[in-house]
Amino acid sequence: MSRKDRIATIVAGARPDLDPAYGSISPPLWSSDTFRWPNPDDKPDFDYSRTVNPNRALLVDTLAALEGATGGAVTGSGQAAALLALLRLPLGARVVAPHDCYGGTYRLLDAFRRQGKIGCTFVDQNDPAALDAALSDGVDLLWIETPSNPLFRIVDVGRLAAAAHAACGLAIADNTFLTPCRQRPLDLGCDLVLHSTTKALNGHGDLFGGALLAKDAALAEELAWWSNAGGLNGAAHDCAQIMRGLRTLPLRIDRQEQSALRIARWLEGQEAVRAVHYPGLESAPGHALAARQQSGPGFMLGFELAGGGEATRRFLAALDLVSLASSLGGFSTLICVPATMTHRGMPPEAQRAAGIAEDLLRLSVGLEDADDLIADLTRGFAAI
Ligand SMILES: *Cc1c(COP(=O)(O)O)cnc(C)c1O
Repeated sequence: MSRKDRIATIVAGARPDLDPAYGSISPPLWSSDTFRWPNPDDKPDFDYSRTVNPNRALLVDTLAALEGATGGAVTGSGQAAALLALLRLPLGARVVAPHDCYGGTYRLLDAFRRQGKIGCTFVDQNDPAALDAALSDGVDLLWIETPSNPLFRIVDVGRLAAAAHAACGLAIADNTFLTPCRQRPLDLGCDLVLHSTTKALNGHGDLFGGALLAKDAALAEELAWWSNAGGLNGAAHDCAQIMRGLRTLPLRIDRQEQSALRIARWLEGQEAVRAVHYPGLESAPGHALAARQQSGPGFMLGFELAGGGEATRRFLAALDLVSLASSLGGFSTLICVPATMTHRGMPPEAQRAAGIAEDLLRLSVGLEDADDLIADLTRGFAAI
């Protein structure tokens, strides 16, 4: 890796060349919907902002550099990026996804399956027999999410990508939870990497965005084509804001992760807690694998209360600093109940199969002082 390839340098790099008029250090906002042609025959590089826009192009290039991709598309939301991944598939394509994938991904894949657009099997990807069975008829797209949401199971990205290739398909990884600061799925063998930039990449909880990036240049071109054809591309202003958020990404992740590790260790010692799910804990089943394929455990964790649904409600009602809300990766610490919030699109049987209990809580650790966060959680436990 050259010095310029390091994450902090990529995100902090100024591009005064993008503004020949004034040499701005912070890139201008090009909000124009359209751009002037010199004559009807010579198409300028930037002609119409749905297709291509300088702020979006800068974000695509930056995210591609962070993930080791050749390019791709920046979309208006994470779900638009998931839709884009499916748009390019032929009718009847076979998709294999984790049984505990992000609720919105489950909703989209399941709806396409019920419409007959795709075949989709949801499996426990850590169960070799179930995975082999799901891949036995071939696969077009193997969907990977690790750590999984909301139980933080770790799957072996390299092994899964190789299995997808052996079954003549592509492997896509949703890297929203870890960001390229902690995991680089394309280096581990995947073909596509997906982000909800709504989360840690923007980090300020004030917009929606997504990205789908490809290792292969032809595939990246195809994604840009479909994203334009389907009108999925993100707005210039949002792209500029996400660039602004990215400047501090490595600093934020370091701090949030440090606090998450402290909180996870503290939770392990609490009587009111039945289980803690965090790959950074030595007790976590995925600890060794996470240590191999990730450069850190991240800022997200899950824990289960001993007292069931009622205890959960009393605990949540007593919190003050930590907000009950379903997003993640922002400056502010959020807690959610996956069963009724993020994963309500998943039927109860599917939730049970995925191990999502009513007293499972998911915590996205933010930038507050860790002592204050622990004091707030202590208030919650006292109320149970
Ligand atoms: C939030 C999220 C998405 C969807 O992103 P939106 O920006 O909300 O559309 C997809 N995957 C994961 C892991 C997420 O957390």
